[in-house]
Amino acid sequence: MNRALFLAGTLSALGVSRGRAAATGGREPCNASPGPAAAIRVLLGRGLVTALDAQSFRFGTRTYRGSAQTLADGTTVDVLDLESYLYGVVPLEMPRSWPSEALMAQAILARTFATAKRDAARPYDVVASQSDQAYGGRDAEFPETTAAVDRTRGTLVAYGGAIATVSYMSCCGGHTESAADAWGGRAVPYLAGVACPYCMQSPEFRWERTVTWRDVVNAFPEDFSDFGPLAQIAVGETDASGRARTLHFQGPERSIDLPAKAVRNALGPSVVRSLLIHSVRVNGSQADLTITIEGSGRGHGVGLCQWGAKTLGSNGATAREILAFYFPGTNITNG
Ligand SMILES: [Zn+2]
Repeated sequence: MNRALFLAGTLSALGVSRGRAAATGGREPCNASPGPAAAIRVLLGRGLVTALDAQSFRFGTRTYRGSAQTLADGTTVDVLDLESYLYGVVPLEMPRSWPSEALMAQAILARTFATAKRDAARPYDVVASQSDQAYGGRDAEFPETTAAVDRTRGTLVAYGGAIATVSYMSCCGGHTESAADAWGGRAVPYLAGVACPYCMQSPEFRWERTVTWRDVVNAFPEDFSDFGPLAQIAVGETDASGRARTLHFQGPERSIDLPAKAVRNALGPSVVRSLLIHSVRVNGSQADLTITIEGSGRGHGVGLCQWGAKTLGSNGATAREILAFYFPGTNITNG
């Protein structure tokens, strides 16, 4: 199959034409306040600060652009302009060797995320870790990722004239997740989830992990206290993306359904890497049962799939097209 044609067909099927994606950029008003040119405050944590010059400082063993502020609790905040912050984010959130349009989509997303996180009521806006976005300061910068930031300078993902709530992850496993299904709350039109046939090259696209039945029983002692032998486990209810809502535990004597999210939390995200679970196999004798879970993707699955963006960029899609694919109905503004 001609992959470029396939991409065009997929975008068209979603009502996102290349022309539309290109034509709407920069024309929508944007509610960003303050705008993207303003400073952002990045919580670095605790460490030794050494002054270097007016534009940079050393924190621990790394060098950062901007100025260091010490909060009352002794933690350090890097105060710098948003674009300089992004120089230290994009290389940690996406490999710099990836297609330039994918890096540009990542830069726009990182800018949008940080802008939406600004909160004057708090002593900082974002944390320099993956709980918000990884940020490595000046030492993390590379020319390829800096170019992606510069080429998209000031641009944001918007929906209905306001800054969009964006999210991204490494690999969706074949279908991105609806924000409402992942996190609850009201449905967000541009975060409803899309089929993504583009991330199959990710090492996370297919995974398999094995745990013992004892691990599961220990995680849910009350539910399994008088369960008896286990015969099989099956995916029960699923959401629109195919992610498991429940897991069905079947024995000869009893059966029980548990929320899939609770099982993932209990066994850990490194074991149940996503809720896009294809099969659960029960192996061995009752005295020594193991459970092998097969699934796709990693993490919540909401928003842009980075491995998918890599493929789309390699196939010739622009950053705007990549973002229009994963966030249908949004457009790109200039703040
Ligand atoms: Zn994907």
